[in-house]
Amino acid sequence: MELTKIKCIHCESEEVVKNGKRATGIQSLKCKNCGKCFQESYLNNGAKPETKRMIISMSVNGSGIRDISRVLKISKDTVMKTLKKRKRSSRMLIQNT
Ligand SMILES: [Zn+2]
Repeated sequence: MELTKIKCIHCESEEVVKNGKRATGIQSLKCKNCGKCFQESYLNNGAKPETKRMIISMSVNGSGIRDISRVLKISKDTVMKTLKKRKRSSRMLIQNT
């Protein structure tokens, strides 16, 4: 199996291999660390910095996770993960000052 430079969306391990393509032509990926599978297109959408910015600004403006995932066409998991990460980093910032 071919190792990619993609990080796992579940555990952020870099031990991600290509796991064949779906019928739709979407590259399927598998994490060797946690054993979970995910799709390349799904990952790209969630990983875009502008998507992350949109998630955060929509959340600040009062949009729920369901609204954000529908508008940005990304999974609810990606929305939750981005918001969780943001919370964690802002907490770290507070602790450091
Ligand atoms: Zn993983």
